[in-house]
Amino acid sequence: MFGVRMALLEETGVARREPDANGDKVIPTAPVIMELIAKWAVKKHRAPVPLMVIHSHAHGDHVAGDAQFQALPNVQVIAAAPAAIQQATGIRNWPADVGAIDLGGRIVDVIPFPGHNEASIALYDRRTGILLTGDSLYPGLLSVNQADLSTFADSAQRLAAFVRANPVSHVFGTHIEQKAAPYLDYGRGTVYQPDESALALSRAHVFELNEMFIRLNGTLTTVAGPEFTIVPRGAATASPPATRR
Ligand SMILES: [Zn+2]
Ligand SMILES: [Zn+2]
Repeated sequence: MFGVRMALLEETGVARREPDANGDKVIPTAPVIMELIAKWAVKKHRAPVPLMVIHSHAHGDHVAGDAQFQALPNVQVIAAAPAAIQQATGIRNWPADVGAIDLGGRIVDVIPFPGHNEASIALYDRRTGILLTGDSLYPGLLSVNQADLSTFADSAQRLAAFVRANPVSHVFGTHIEQKAAPYLDYGRGTVYQPDESALALSRAHVFELNEMFIRLNGTLTTVAGPEFTIVPRGAATASPPATRR
């Protein structure tokens, strides 16, 4: 996301891939992003803006590229930890308060969302109404530990309250495990998904997530909805065996 003073990147990605023809396993995330910022600056007839990097949470597939960015000038990497996020975005009470990042003419709200991970957040871009929900809400298998169930449920309730009060155009998470057909998933670890669901969810799904947690009422079991499913962590799939393909 670009503001007039600063650009914001969420996630630095997995950073590793299968070796290419030269045996290279590093995904060059930072050079691609810095080139995008340079192109934006040329188009706007101005100098490139500094970059702030934030993460939806601390899991490896979202932060592994951090080192590439930490090495660069004019880049601030906010560590994926509650204290660092609080400090950078002005959140006094975690997780009750909402913080903000001012990119210059564009404000992004930072909503603490512990549950999937203790450092989970959602980002809300006031300009476009886009809500980024990381691994907390996406078309697929939302894994939860019993120990984190009430924390996750409280977060879902707070996000529902936020969404009730703000216009939301799209909800984007960070994975797809869902098939296009309702209630069916590909199972975690699938690498070929020819008929997968679209990434975008809507504000109604935030309310549905909250409702699912209310229905669980403190006891963790699999709860399937048409577009996503709450599953105990470690479950590889939610679809019944006969429907797996
Ligand atoms: Zn995760
Ligand atoms: Zn993830």
